Amino acid sequence: PSLEYEVLRRRIRNNVQEMWYYMNAELKKLKKNSDALTNGQVENYVEISLKNIWEHKKSLIMDIDRLTKADGYDAWREKEAKDLSDLVQRRFRALQNPSDCNKAKKLICSLNKGCGFGCQIHHVTYCFLVAYGTERTLILKSKGWRYHKEGWESVFKPVSDTCTSTSGTSHANWPGDPSKQVLSLPIVDTVYPKPKFQPPSVPADLAHRLERLHGHPLVWWVGQVLKYLMRPHDNTKTLLDYSKEKLGFKKPIVGIHVRRTDKVGTEAAYHDIDEYMVKVEQYFDQLETKPDVKRVFIASDDPKVITTARNRYPNYEIIGDPEIAETASVAKRYSDSSLRGIIVDIHLLSLSDYLVCTFSSQVCRVAYELMQTHYPDAYDRFASLDDVYYYGGQNSHPHVAILDHIPRRSGELELKVGDPVDVQGNHWDGYSKGRNTRTNTGGLFPSFKIKNPVEAVEFPKYQNVPL
Ligand code: GDP
Repeated sequence: PSLEYEVLRRRIRNNVQEMWYYMNAELKKLKKNSDALTNGQVENYVEISLKNIWEHKKSLIMDIDRLTKADGYDAWREKEAKDLSDLVQRRFRALQNPSDCNKAKKLICSLNKGCGFGCQIHHVTYCFLVAYGTERTLILKSKGWRYHKEGWESVFKPVSDTCTSTSGTSHANWPGDPSKQVLSLPIVDTVYPKPKFQPPSVPADLAHRLERLHGHPLVWWVGQVLKYLMRPHDNTKTLLDYSKEKLGFKKPIVGIHVRRTDKVGTEAAYHDIDEYMVKVEQYFDQLETKPDVKRVFIASDDPKVITTARNRYPNYEIIGDPEIAETASVAKRYSDSSLRGIIVDIHLLSLSDYLVCTFSSQVCRVAYELMQTHYPDAYDRFASLDDVYYYGGQNSHPHVAILDHIPRRSGELELKVGDPVDVQGNHWDGYSKGRNTRTNTGGLFPSFKIKNPVEAVEFPKYQNVPL
């Protein structure tokens, strides 16, 4: 290891200790003096402590990022990310372009799910994963798509260059049997039995490498499917480049997605733009080299969000296209212009250095998944104001306790190392809520006491595709 690495490593350890000394002493002082202090004094005291704790945390994060640069593995990370991506993209191309389409096994998927763009992209991704897992070429039926009657190919490259016919000598509905040439797959909401190849499964033959490379292998894997599926048509590519230029999208930049209109009050809570901007401010504050301009890209289905942010935050450069947001309203949503708008917004969000959004929205989850294709490991380049990342309709996937927890307050959950825990949500305050399925009880527990294990499942190995 380099001198820098060893020095930083010790510095991080010392400063975790220092942070503890500080918090311990401050809280004790507060306890001891609680009777003597006025409310105003307590407020002031807490305010100062929070600033100091933030500086501690910021310094630790910076040092860990420096440590990552100094550890000598950056070139390896870049190369491994590229090698893995190239490998799976080769396999996807091989699967989708069989030598004889007349004899190929096929999986038919219809782009007719009655939901938004993000939801439909996830629907196609689920179909693709089942196709990959059953070694069947995915045939996408998309004519009459609610976003564009000409279908998928109006904006994206076809999912296959050589095999697009749904015909075959024998047909069946999922699960059918392996001898049938053509299988039709329903939407995930009604599929039975649930395919084991859908998320959170990742192929066992890649799992080990992925776990080493990436902080969230499932998101990497889904991102790779999106990279293949969402290859832009030439016109779309021109539009993406043009929009980037026109809006002045330049790094460093934070992407914000604010989901409003039909989602608020039904599937998600309202979050004021200020809540997003707190996260943006913290991101910029934590950067080692401060940029000259703090640039923010805003995507929303409500154009007012962009104008409000510009008025309230004059010291930021806020870019975004209120006209695109206008096309995202429920009334205009299923149209050609709205389709182009959402593709531009998702693309630019995914190109950002950091994403602030609500993971309850599929728009934001697609952006986060695609973001993984632009970095060796971008698992931590986000702040979600609500849910943790999940894949809609995913197979059940318990987390696992890695530390014991003895409840200290009512409502807390007991954990023993190895307990399976169904996580319902992270409250982003140090605690998560979940159910321990060993004891069959629910409650709150410290988020750091569990891990999200990788669900490695045997998929076909694609041995005829070169490594
Ligand atoms: P969810 O409902 O937020 O989970 O995501 P969906 O993608 O399933 O449905 C929301 C739809 O609203 C999107 O597909 C878009 O058509 C539109 N929409 C939502 N947010 C935005 C945005 O930031 N920009 C644009 N252009 N459209 C949006």
